[in-house]
Amino acid sequence: MICDGCSGSGACDPCDGYGTTSDSYPNAQDGTECEICTGDGVCVDCGGNRETPDTDTEQDETSAAAQWKASA
Ligand SMILES: [Zn+2]
Ligand SMILES: [Zn+2]
Repeated sequence: MICDGCSGSGACDPCDGYGTTSDSYPNAQDGTECEICTGDGVCVDCGGNRETPDTDTEQDETSAAAQWKASA
């Protein structure tokens, strides 16, 4: 499923993928290293994959159906 942390962009949301926080005014260059991604600009929730692992139980339902079929 699409990552909630970055809305599917793969970039760290707090710093927009720049790795630093916004300047206090344009070209101030006083932004500090992002504490969320520690400066690499990659979303920490999905690691830049833009999607999080699917954790539903569809696999279990499929194997249960297969077992029922085999016993029938
Ligand atoms: Zn993400
Ligand atoms: Zn960041």
